[in-house]
Amino acid sequence: MSKNTNADSIKKVTVLGIVMNIIFCLIKATVGWIGNSQAVIADSISSIPALAAVLLCSIFPGIYYIDSIGAMIVSVFILKVAFDIMKPALGEMIDKSADQNLMSLIKEAVLSVEDVKSTHKIRSRVTSGAIFIDLHIQVDEKLSIADGHNISGRVKEKIFSLDSRIIDVLVHLEPEIAETEKVHIHHGDITQSL
Ligand SMILES: [Zn+2]
Repeated sequence: MSKNTNADSIKKVTVLGIVMNIIFCLIKATVGWIGNSQAVIADSISSIPALAAVLLCSIFPGIYYIDSIGAMIVSVFILKVAFDIMKPALGEMIDKSADQNLMSLIKEAVLSVEDVKSTHKIRSRVTSGAIFIDLHIQVDEKLSIADGHNISGRVKEKIFSLDSRIIDVLVHLEPEIAETEKVHIHHGDITQSL
């Protein structure tokens, strides 16, 4: 086998390999599209410019600089994906810093509900702009379960009316405890009452 034939075979195998890779990328992108997965689509499409650049270089060795252009296009894809991943996280950080005011409003609103003696452990969780609230309220220990349920329902309504981003409120109902007994049990762990 002559040197030229060898080089030709290597070139053919490289080109075939790249073409196959591009086909696989397109199949992967289609699967991502069907499964509605942005990550899979981005992952498959981002490989195509690099493969196309190598393919062009093997066919036309004169345009070796196309490889650098391909690398630049891939960098843009990577930056775009990184930005898309960071965007919701940044949004949540901004929401969280704005929460302090909302938390005071919630405390005020809860204490204004009739029969609520006190409240503590008011916590918020922000996911994609939606706010989840979790809190403890203390009521007269002699009230019936139906009364307690009714009070927590009113507490929820009050909280929901404060901000349309609040999509869920979880109220832990507790009996009011005298000052001297302010250590109570929360679902298995002993917590100092605030
Ligand atoms: Zn508690």
